[in-house]
Amino acid sequence: MQEYDIVIIGGGPAGLAAAISAKEKGIDNVLIIEREGVLGGILNQCIHNGFGLHTFKEELTGPEYADRYIKKVLEMKIPYKLNTMVIDLNKDKIITAVNQDDGIIEIKAKAVILAMGCRERPRGALNIPGSRCAGIFTAGTAQKFVNIEGYMPGKEVVVLGSGDIGLIMARRMTLEGAKVKAVVELMPYSSGLKRNIVQCLDDFDIPLKLSHTVIDIKGKDRIEGVTIAKVDENRKPIKGTEEYISCDTLLLSVGLIPENELSRKAEIGISRVTSGPIVNESLETGVEGIFACGNVLHVHDLVDNVSMESHMAGENAARYVKGMNFNNKENAIELIATDGVRYTVPKYINPDNVENFIQVRFIVGNVYKSSYISVYFDDNRKFHIKKRILTPGEMEEVRITKAMLEKHPQCKKIIFKVEEE
Ligand SMILES: Cc1cc2nc3c(=O)[nH]c(=O)nc-3n(C[C@H](O)[C@H](O)[C@H](O)COP(=O)(O)OP(=O)(O)OC[C@H]3O[C@@H](n4cnc5c(N)ncnc54)[C@H](O)[C@@H]3O)c2cc1C
Repeated sequence: MQEYDIVIIGGGPAGLAAAISAKEKGIDNVLIIEREGVLGGILNQCIHNGFGLHTFKEELTGPEYADRYIKKVLEMKIPYKLNTMVIDLNKDKIITAVNQDDGIIEIKAKAVILAMGCRERPRGALNIPGSRCAGIFTAGTAQKFVNIEGYMPGKEVVVLGSGDIGLIMARRMTLEGAKVKAVVELMPYSSGLKRNIVQCLDDFDIPLKLSHTVIDIKGKDRIEGVTIAKVDENRKPIKGTEEYISCDTLLLSVGLIPENELSRKAEIGISRVTSGPIVNESLETGVEGIFACGNVLHVHDLVDNVSMESHMAGENAARYVKGMNFNNKENAIELIATDGVRYTVPKYINPDNVENFIQVRFIVGNVYKSSYISVYFDDNRKFHIKKRILTPGEMEEVRITKAMLEKHPQCKKIIFKVEEE
């Protein structure tokens, strides 16, 4: 069995940033395992710009952003295995992987960093009635066809779901000569970034139909059209509002699912809200020495946040290998998300493990205007932050400092909520 100090599963932006920081913290015996033939993860197919505004103060494309990290991994001579799929992980941190050259490999790691990203929800998860004809793709699959393989999935397109991938693909298909007839969104708001709604839909006169859904798919061999309808406040279609739109392609952008099959095999506790591992302030999961970061932990809006978070996971994995124990649950404070806040990452903070501050990340469950994010230490409001707008498409961050924790040594829970004026 091969032995490593730190093994990172996934060579996307999360895995790359985690590997670099672990190495910077003095751990040389690090290995990245990636199932694709190249490093960089999903960024390789995101050829639009808008990446890196926070990290590099520049607007980069996805491949350019990934390239900066890949170059660093090469410069630092961090070992990686490509075309290698991790098929098993257990709580003793034994990893089983497979590739064409070595067959099945077993690796024992002192620490593991989960960085497997997420996958798209498919049609099967939606139960849309209608025939099972060709021409229905997830937006990310269509993105791979157009940007990497050089194929056009179709000419007349309807997009279901207004998450960022759907918005980006509405623009991409338009630029490649297709007619995007509508982006249809079940909720009364888009779950995408505001800047993507403006730059991908408004700038190209693509209609966004909020509170609508696809109720039927027509077509035998190939899709010929979809019927959409308005939905009520319970998201049920309203009779009499049906509208038929002819199209040869339906793109689905209806949510991402963190890839946590390996985490479950290692008996790691998974949050029912994020579908990612429950972690403490050090991004350590419930299994000692296994850390998680990036989209496998919770779906991020910006890759800059992924890189920042993953840098911390790498640093903490290095500290763990050097003997630090983060899993001391006795003094842990529970973070509670309520009243509009959907979850928090992390879920627990042990004040003893906090060096300066902890960045708590979360999303809200609705659109709120002129509201406050309030933070309570037990029953006392510690501070609140005024927000002009809060939307489910944009991740929020709140900093809990060491000084705050020291002022409240008896604190048992920290509560995050939205308070309206
Ligand atoms: C279409 C699209 C558009 C986006 N647009 C923007 C944008 O404009 N601006 C922005 O800032 N962000 C954008 N993002 C978000 C950003 O790309 C992601 O937040 C980021 O890529 C997540 O990084 P990650 O490393 O967690 O996941 P990924 O990039 O998905 O990487 C995970 C890696 O793990 C590998 N892996 C998974 N399972 C295994 C296994 N069992 N064994 C081995 N390897 C495995 C995968 O092959 C993959 O390479 C976009 C994302 C998408 C999908």
